[in-house]
Formats: sequence, C-alpha cells, structure tokens
Amino acid sequence: MPYRDMWATCTECGKQFVFTVEEQRRLAALGFETALPTLCPECMRAAELTPGPHEGIIKWYDPEKGYGFIIQRSGNEIFFHRSGLAPGTPEDIPDKARVRYRIQPSGRGPQAVDVSLVKA
Ligand SMILES: [Zn+2]
Repeated sequence: MPYRDMWATCTECGKQFVFTVEEQRRLAALGFETALPTLCPECMRAAELTPGPHEGIIKWYDPEKGYGFIIQRSGNEIFFHRSGLAPGTPEDIPDKARVRYRIQPSGRGPQAVDVSLVKA
C-alpha cells in the first residue's frame, strides 16, 4: 500500500497534525504499526514517559556491557540496564525485538524496567 500524508486529530490536546509519509516509513522500518496515531507527536512523547506499560523496539542490547536501548514510537531512545530485565527474560535479545516495559525515573533520566519480550 503506497504511503500518503494523512491528517489526524490528537485525542489528548485536540490539535490537528499531519502523519507524514516519512513518519510512516520510519515506523514501518522499525517494525511499528503504521495505523493513524491518536496522539500528536508532543502528546505521544509525553505519554511515552508515563510509567506504562509500553511497547517498543530494541535498538540493541549488549549482554557483556549489561545494558541497551529501546526505541519508542516517537523515536525517543530509552536506556535499560540488565537489572531492568523482567525475571526469566534471556539476555540474548536480538536487535529490533519487540518488548514491553515500564518507565522509571532515575538520576540519569527515565529508564526502562520490567523489560520482557513480546511474542510475535
Ligand atoms: Zn496532542
């Protein structure tokens, strides 16, 4: 299906915004759904930093370093440490894996905890 720019209305602030072709391509490349978003980019970023739970995509995780990053739908990247993996989650997490997580504030900004793999 060819992508095209689409107007959407934010259900949070009521603002109209354009869901651009570039944004749709970016989301598809990462493995996110490309359905019309219900939140504008600003409200989406704010919503993504609430405790959650949220779903995101693994950018990378390095078992030797013991940390990695999750890409949120907005494009924001969230740090997580080995101790933030949910019990039973294996450490051989592949790039682009879909994960569920919660957001917890830390001294260095928000980080992901309770990180677990979402079965496809
Ligand atoms: Zn909004």
